[in-house]
Amino acid sequence: MAERRIALLGATGSIGAQALDVIAANPALCVCALASRSQPLDELAVEHGVEHVQVGGDLTELLEASKPDLVLNAVVGFAGVGATLWALEHGVTLALANKESLVAAGDLAIAAWKRGGGHLLPVDSEHSAVFQCLEGRSPETVDAVVLTASGGPFRNRSRLDLESVTVDEALAHPTWSMGPKITIDSATLANKGLELIEAHFLFDLPYERIEVVVHPTSVVHALVRFRDGAALAHLGYPDMRVPISFAVTFPDRRPTAVRPLDFSAGMTLEFEPPDPVRFPLLRLAREAGERGGTYPCAFNASNEVAVAAFLEEKIGFLDIAELVEDALARVDGAPARDLSELIEADADARGLASGRLAAA
Ligand code: MG
Repeated sequence: MAERRIALLGATGSIGAQALDVIAANPALCVCALASRSQPLDELAVEHGVEHVQVGGDLTELLEASKPDLVLNAVVGFAGVGATLWALEHGVTLALANKESLVAAGDLAIAAWKRGGGHLLPVDSEHSAVFQCLEGRSPETVDAVVLTASGGPFRNRSRLDLESVTVDEALAHPTWSMGPKITIDSATLANKGLELIEAHFLFDLPYERIEVVVHPTSVVHALVRFRDGAALAHLGYPDMRVPISFAVTFPDRRPTAVRPLDFSAGMTLEFEPPDPVRFPLLRLAREAGERGGTYPCAFNASNEVAVAAFLEEKIGFLDIAELVEDALARVDGAPARDLSELIEADADARGLASGRLAAA
């Protein structure tokens, strides 16, 4: 494999740390740039011999200066939009862990991808799985894509119970080890909602051909049902190093330290439909996706505000969905023609959600 220079954005988060492990295990990979939102990077820069480092601010300057072959965008939230659009527009391979940027930028990102003509490799485990099952086949060969959800820590809680769950309980994910924002999103199923919209844009499929099923052990990451009646599934222990390694070493599929799937003690795979009453954010995401325009951007923005408020213990668990539903009912949702209009739409939705919080 030829030398590959990687810009790692979100280097101090959970994906960032695991990516550094993967890169260290592959001599052909090197880090040419590191970025974080607020954490210092001096130590990491010395350890990995990285010249281009940035804490906060507009990451496109860092990307221009460091000239990466691959951008691994593991920023959390809308803050990752600029880097996603930069990589897609410039035809630089984008390994995308920052699903929020694709959800929010949607049509703008796809247009930039078409102009740039580079690779867009999902690092989200479900989407990496779909990408691998598809093997580049066109959307018309697909009957439906099925994304699996663990169901989070509250899969078996009643709606009444959910009124009083704590931040610590919500942060205790049963199968995946991840950062706080995505862990809360997994508990509310907003994460699966974001992934539904992400899949729509990545694989060019209408929403009625993207399904979600709850699968508590997270061994099956996704399935693709094809038009000939065959269904392909992607299995493995839940470990983000697999989709990270797949994306940064594509198309080589290099070895990882993850243990192989073991059936010797038997294994049962269970699936159940998601409950729309206890987890309304999945329905809200689907509706926002189907309405199009900047509704997905507003879904993401209001969800970010609500999750931050929940983590600060300002609102309860069920208030997250209420805040998002309220914001979605009040935004105009008109399509964004450029990044500045998108930033405006994001700010509008944030303003509505924050205003509602302040009034509560
Ligand atoms: Mg995922």
